[in-house]
Amino acid sequence: MPAKLDWCALERKWQKKWNWRKIYETDPDPRKPKYYATAAYPYPNSPQHIGHARTYTIADVNARYHRMKGYNTLFPMGFHYTGTPLFAMSKRLREGDPEIVKTFTKVYGIPPATLEKLKDPKSMASYFREDIKKGMMEIGFSIDWRREFTTIDPLYNRYIEWHFQTLNRKGLITKGTHPVAWCPNDKSPVGVVDTQGDVEPDIGESYLVKFQKDSVSYPTSTLRPETIFGVTNLWVNPDATYIRARVDGELWIVSKEAVEKLQHQNHKVTIEHEIPASELLWKTVQNPVTNNEIPILPGGFVEPDNGTGVVMSVPGHAPYDYQALTDLKQRYANSAESQQILQDTKPISIIRLEGFSDLPAADLIAKFKVKDQNDPHLEHATQELYSKEFHDGIMKENTGRYSGMPVAKAREAIVRELTSQGKIETLLELRNAPVICRCGTKCLVHILENQWFINYGDPEWKKLAHKCLDQMVILPEELRGEFNYTIDWLRERACARAVGLGTKLPWDQNWIIEALSDSVIYMAYYILSKYFAKNWVVFKKFEKDTSRLPDAFFNFTLLGEGTVDAVAEQTGIPKRILNAIRAEFQYFYPVDMRHSARDLVSNHLSFYIFHHSSLFPEKQWPKGIVANGFVLMEGAKMSKSLENIIPLRQGIAKFGADPVRVGVMATAELGQDTDFSEVLALSIQERLSSLIGQARKLGTKKTAGKTKLSTLDRWMISRLSNAVQSATNALDRLRVREAINIILYQLDNDIAWYRRRLGPKKPRFDNRDRVLRKVLETRTRIMAPLAPHAAEEIWSRIGNKGFVVQAHWPEEGENDKDPVAERAEILVRQALEDTGEIVKATGIAPKRIAYYTAADWKWQVYLKALKAAEEKMRLGDFIKNIMGDPGLRSLGKAAADYAAKAIQQANQMPDEMRRSRLRDGFTAENPIFTSSADFYKREFKCVVDVWREGDPGISDPKGRARMSEPYRPAIYLE
Ligand SMILES: [Zn+2]
Repeated sequence: MPAKLDWCALERKWQKKWNWRKIYETDPDPRKPKYYATAAYPYPNSPQHIGHARTYTIADVNARYHRMKGYNTLFPMGFHYTGTPLFAMSKRLREGDPEIVKTFTKVYGIPPATLEKLKDPKSMASYFREDIKKGMMEIGFSIDWRREFTTIDPLYNRYIEWHFQTLNRKGLITKGTHPVAWCPNDKSPVGVVDTQGDVEPDIGESYLVKFQKDSVSYPTSTLRPETIFGVTNLWVNPDATYIRARVDGELWIVSKEAVEKLQHQNHKVTIEHEIPASELLWKTVQNPVTNNEIPILPGGFVEPDNGTGVVMSVPGHAPYDYQALTDLKQRYANSAESQQILQDTKPISIIRLEGFSDLPAADLIAKFKVKDQNDPHLEHATQELYSKEFHDGIMKENTGRYSGMPVAKAREAIVRELTSQGKIETLLELRNAPVICRCGTKCLVHILENQWFINYGDPEWKKLAHKCLDQMVILPEELRGEFNYTIDWLRERACARAVGLGTKLPWDQNWIIEALSDSVIYMAYYILSKYFAKNWVVFKKFEKDTSRLPDAFFNFTLLGEGTVDAVAEQTGIPKRILNAIRAEFQYFYPVDMRHSARDLVSNHLSFYIFHHSSLFPEKQWPKGIVANGFVLMEGAKMSKSLENIIPLRQGIAKFGADPVRVGVMATAELGQDTDFSEVLALSIQERLSSLIGQARKLGTKKTAGKTKLSTLDRWMISRLSNAVQSATNALDRLRVREAINIILYQLDNDIAWYRRRLGPKKPRFDNRDRVLRKVLETRTRIMAPLAPHAAEEIWSRIGNKGFVVQAHWPEEGENDKDPVAERAEILVRQALEDTGEIVKATGIAPKRIAYYTAADWKWQVYLKALKAAEEKMRLGDFIKNIMGDPGLRSLGKAAADYAAKAIQQANQMPDEMRRSRLRDGFTAENPIFTSSADFYKREFKCVVDVWREGDPGISDPKGRARMSEPYRPAIYLE
């Protein structure tokens, strides 16, 4: 057992050498094709953990793979400071939020003394930026760090100003009044990056149907206004507080919580007084359509902050209402007064639904065996019924002029009618409520007036986005539908916030461009940022006063508009630099692969497509997107509360960079979540160590071939060639799990078989060192994108010069493929297994084993049978054909019997197998077995003979030879 490897030392050694040689700094090289990969820049409001490593590692594998395939590959990185997350996090720290303090100190091991300096958002950002960058270096990402920037760098702000001015000029920014998700505390719109748990707020519309009593309205929110004919009562929460208020001139009764919502949706609300729910209960109100008097009943399930806190009850067609009414009747069984009211409250049937009784709600309650109103099955029952009635339901006779109408049509008609009578309104809701802002406040829907929106609803822009998407590679491909859906569905989106870091809206300095709007074309900025840093002397004056850098600079370098002379004169930037930037942009753009996580498909990644399709000419539109799933920890979601988070840098220190890299990719392909665990990381570490151990054993001495390669040697090389080809195919589609399996694991089965077949070393006739060196060398190349540090270590230990990460990806090597050798090994292995079965079944330790390979004439018949089966020849014709051959006829019954058997086998064989055997033709089995006799002798520790059926001098005491067939020698044990 070799001494345990010091992974950290090994990795640091190679990282230092790579950095020293600047091998990841990529500049244009007109002699080489380029490849440009980017991954979402991180948000430095906390350290990264193991889960963050997946997207970046896949991006790095992709970059490294393309580099080895001969592409001049650029993989840069920046940091996203924009928006509220940094603000919110530092604020929570300032307020001493125990959860954050615990997460930072306990989970991430930040010294308590350091916390003090994280209380300022910008200090926090630079602290975590350094930490994240160190982690990215420690894990060995092949990043060109010269291009690093943050989104609050003055020149980046200037770039985003140009971006928005350009959108505005194209008419894609609109000022308008639209509903947005809103934080009442920050007085700012909120998007996915502004909410706790990164929830995208989902705004939906519901109806407010207004019940009446004494000129007071009781608005009830519903998604099914057509069921108004079946309303038997209203529900209010008995423990909630209600408000009597004047709303747009009418008197309304709504929950206390609803008042704020109405105000945010532009209703004029004047509160008169509070009303406890008890004052409403058991009173009656009037149905605005049927004019029936119905009671208000207590419903504990009514959420005061959902809708108006007043709900209409349709027990005939709503399982929740049916069950709540049933429960209520039981509860008030002994109260005479309430009893009477409840007895009169009976479900009303208003929708006819094929296959259901008059009361479908009751049917579904029975079907799902619902016990009470807290039963989770109620949700399923509700969904099933709502969908069935919407699609197949017909309004009954008791619905007046809607009688006979399909439900979907009746809904539209009744909304029209009630709207014209002022009996219905709409209310916007967050369908996925509660959505919590990062500041801790519950979000609601706000109608934002005169605000700036990016108009993703523009039909021409949608067309461009679709066109761009249609030309892109999407991995995994099944996400394409989600992209199409998002592009169709997106509408105006608020693009500015009242709070946070970032770029001010150029024409309205009170607003800051939000985080999902200033992060969609920054991939082009990596070209600029290199020159800003390199030519600091030239650009520093613009940093001090960004207004001196005109749009013309960006128009020329990024769009090729204007002339270099004009821009040089206007800006004082030397023409040489302007031309270099322009050339570099044209060289690297478009982005070939954008890496991100799959939860960003519906926002960031779709915006990325939209903006590129509008700002840049078609030849610079993005070429591909990879969106991967999450990382689980021992099968569970990572969460602070579960305390199952491993900080990335601690993980690297503990397991090594390569084991972490492989560990976050090994258990699933792109679309699925992977599962990381300590056991997995340690097993990968052991696997890589053993490969390094193999390299140590082989040493640096190149061994010349001593003899001609044997079939077995050729088999090993053929298997290697197959592995290269499969790994190439896998990495072309970024099927990283498959690539890992092939490269790190499956090849070992082949190597083990090769060694087993070779047996003890016979130095004079042995090519094994030469073959195994070739295997290890090639394997190291294809391993390099996945585990670059271990690969370098192996590469140098076996005496190769240069870096393996700069070596060429092995050619797929059709020449190295040897189907004959592969077929031979399949035969040898099959016979080994068959013999083992016989030994096991008979329970005897054999003294002698004889293998009888099929006679040549059987091969002749066998191949004819395959062909006949292919041509669907009739059995009689086939036998006739066989017996027409004088040689075969002379064999008499033996030939006829075998012909019948062979054609039957050929007919039953899978098409693919039949075709490949036909293609392969005659296989010389006898030499294969003769040369394997030593192997069988070692395996079974007995004498082994090999004969061909019909050979003169054959020893065949039990007449087994005649049972031999092509691909299946007869086996005799004694
Ligand atoms: Zn807030």
